[in-house]
Amino acid sequence: QAYGVNELRQMYLDFFESKGHLAMKSFSLVPHNDKSLLLINAGMAPLKPYFTGAEIPPCSRVTTCQKCIRTGDIENVGKTARHGTFFEMLGNFSFGDYFKNEAIAWSWEFLTEVVGLDADRLYPSVYQDDDEAFDIWNKAIGIPAERIFRFGKEDNFWEHGAGPCGPCSEIYYDRGEKYGCGKPDCTVGCECDRYMEVWNNVFTQFENDGNGNYTTLEHKNIDTGMGLERLAVVVQDVDSIFDVDTIQALRNKVCEIAGVTYETEYQKDVSIRLITDHIRSATFMISDGIMPSNEGRGYVLRRLIRRAARHGRLLGIKGQFLAKLSETVIEGSKGGYPELEEKKAFIFKVLDQEEEKFNKTIDQGLSILTNMEHEMEEAGSRQLDGRSAFTLYDTYGFPLDLTKEILEEKGYAVDEAGFTAAMEEQRTMARNARETTNYMGADSTVYDQIDPSVTTEFAGYDNLTFNSDI
Ligand code: ATP
Ligand code: MG
Ligand code: MG
Ligand code: MG
Repeated sequence: QAYGVNELRQMYLDFFESKGHLAMKSFSLVPHNDKSLLLINAGMAPLKPYFTGAEIPPCSRVTTCQKCIRTGDIENVGKTARHGTFFEMLGNFSFGDYFKNEAIAWSWEFLTEVVGLDADRLYPSVYQDDDEAFDIWNKAIGIPAERIFRFGKEDNFWEHGAGPCGPCSEIYYDRGEKYGCGKPDCTVGCECDRYMEVWNNVFTQFENDGNGNYTTLEHKNIDTGMGLERLAVVVQDVDSIFDVDTIQALRNKVCEIAGVTYETEYQKDVSIRLITDHIRSATFMISDGIMPSNEGRGYVLRRLIRRAARHGRLLGIKGQFLAKLSETVIEGSKGGYPELEEKKAFIFKVLDQEEEKFNKTIDQGLSILTNMEHEMEEAGSRQLDGRSAFTLYDTYGFPLDLTKEILEEKGYAVDEAGFTAAMEEQRTMARNARETTNYMGADSTVYDQIDPSVTTEFAGYDNLTFNSDI
């Protein structure tokens, strides 16, 4: 009987507690006092003040299981075995306390002794110049040199502008040939799902002054991150994160509601996995107080909900279904996150309202989009003009990336610059209209109530993706 997700989370926290760490509760998905980040995307993100020295940590060793959202991975969701927009990151952190020796030894001990993974399937990687980490793996742990991979800056050096930075050491697990891409050069580091990255150990030992000058930090730190779902994949020996115990229950619920069987048709499976992932993100985001809107975090949430709703349509689901699924998310995760249970009624209500709003326009929007496709075909064009994409956004509530996704499936593109221009034009008109009515003594706030998309700032898609480094 393999360990379940909830069990593995606790085993990890207990293990690092036994190594002198303070186990802290997951921080909110909403960053606190950090304008550089839209949503928390790694275990270290909410701990930044402890790393920079801006705040004193409650203990020099901390361990967490942190809720994370990475919309930068959205294109991978449903297609790879290992990416979700939502996932939980297990981490152990040292603020000027222990360093590489302990971090490496403990990660190895946890994987091979505590959860009992086969050591012969594990492969570490180090930064190309990090002989220190190489020697620890090779001499202290006893991994043969040819099983340790040296990678360049792109993969194995963590850096985020100026500030603390350093090399990393990742741990990969070989899931076997059946998961490989079959290319002759497929090995550790290949983008396919055979050698799955499970853990990243970051050794923040340098300070970058912003001009590429590195000095060695007096207080060196450890920042590690391991996806709980990925750990469960290798421990439970299943195909993907959508097959681990808690997520499988949710996936089954999607299939049950849609009346479809998993693993009968690839495109359907993608939709099933995508809905499974997006409803997890949405449930956790709402429980942290994020509301669907047309900007920033709220817009990320809106896009996830609407994308899930549209894929529900593709599977043949007729009515509203997201709140029902959310119930299964909460059932599976409330042990680790009691706030889900507490906010249950609120979460269902927000999902219901957003889905209802979109349901009113989605069918009409989809049929208009089909007409647009016919027109493009007749005109011999492969690109939807920006104004049409904007109409779909403004009148039918189609986020641009939803329109893009639907068209891409059929080989069409969207004029994104044209979309932004149409949005700009609309905003200028709204502004002018407001100024006129204000002059006549009207209350401009009525416009906010009529249609928020007219008056709220559109954050732009650039602001909706973010660095996926740990
Ligand atoms: P990958 O190369 O597979 O995309 P990554 O190098 O981007 O992963 P890190 O930034 O190193 O990932 O994050 C630390 C750990 O968090 C990873 O080793 C992995 O276990 C987990 N992780 C990262 N992204 C995701 C995701 N989208 N879904 C689930 N787990 C993830
Ligand atoms: Mg990686
Ligand atoms: Mg990594
Ligand atoms: Mg990644």
